[in-house]
Amino acid sequence: MRSKIVAGNWKMNNDQAETSNLIDALKAHGDFGTTRVIIAPSFVNLAQAVTLTADSGIEVAAQNMHEATSGAYTGEVSPAMLSSVGIQTVILGHSERRAYFGENDATLAKKVTNAFDHDIDVVFCFGEELEDRKSDNHFNVVKSQIANALFALPAAAWFKIVLAYEPVWAIGTGETASPEQAQEMHAFIRGLVQDQYDAVLADDVSILYGGSVKPGNAQEIFSKQDVDGGLIGGAALSAADFTTIIKSI
Ligand code: PEP
Repeated sequence: MRSKIVAGNWKMNNDQAETSNLIDALKAHGDFGTTRVIIAPSFVNLAQAVTLTADSGIEVAAQNMHEATSGAYTGEVSPAMLSSVGIQTVILGHSERRAYFGENDATLAKKVTNAFDHDIDVVFCFGEELEDRKSDNHFNVVKSQIANALFALPAAAWFKIVLAYEPVWAIGTGETASPEQAQEMHAFIRGLVQDQYDAVLADDVSILYGGSVKPGNAQEIFSKQDVDGGLIGGAALSAADFTTIIKSI
C-alpha cells in the first residue's frame, strides 16, 4: 500500500545512551499523523529501540541482514535474529553496503528473498554513481539494479517492498538531486514496475528519495508526484531536523 514514509538511517552512529536520547527526543515531538516514521539504529541497539518506541508509532528497521538463514558467518546477523527482537523491516542494498562490503545484485536478490521468507519487509536502495549520470547511463543502471534484485519476485511479494532511489553522488555530499531529477527518476521507476507487473502494483509501491535531504529542501522534493518520502542519513541524527523533514511531507 503506497504511503508517505520518512526513514532515518543512523548508520554507524549512536551508542546505547545516544540511541535512547534520540528516540526520547523524537517521541517528544509527538504525533506524525499518517506518515510512517522509521528509524534504523545499529544492530546492537535494535532491541532497545523496539522497546523504547513501543506504542509511539515509530517503526524500527535494521540497516542490513545476511542472506543465509543461519550458520558459520562470523559477525553476521540473520533475519530470524531480527524477528526475535521485534524487527519487521530491513534496509537492503544501501550504496555503502554495495561499495564497502561488496554487495551486488545477486547477493541482494538472496537477501530480499530471505527477508520475505522470514516475513520481514524490505526498504530496497539503489542509485547511480556520478559517472553514470554524467554519461547519461543513470536510467540503465537503476533499471538493472531493480530488475536483477527484484523482478524475479512474484507480484504478491511487492506489498512488502519500499523502494529508495539514492543517487550515490548525493549521499552525504550535500549535493541533492533537484526535485525535477528526483521526479523524473521516480516516474521512470514506477514505469519499470508497471511494465514488469501492472499499473495497480506500480501505483501502490512507495518510492523514497535519499541523498542529502535536509529541512531546507525536503518540502520541495516531497511535493513531487512520484516521491513518497525520504530515506534520510545525516539529518536523521538530529531530532529537530528529522522532525522538520517528517512534517514537511
Ligand atoms: C543515506 O545514507 O541513505 C543518505 C541519504 O544519507 P544523507 O542523507 O546523509 O545523504
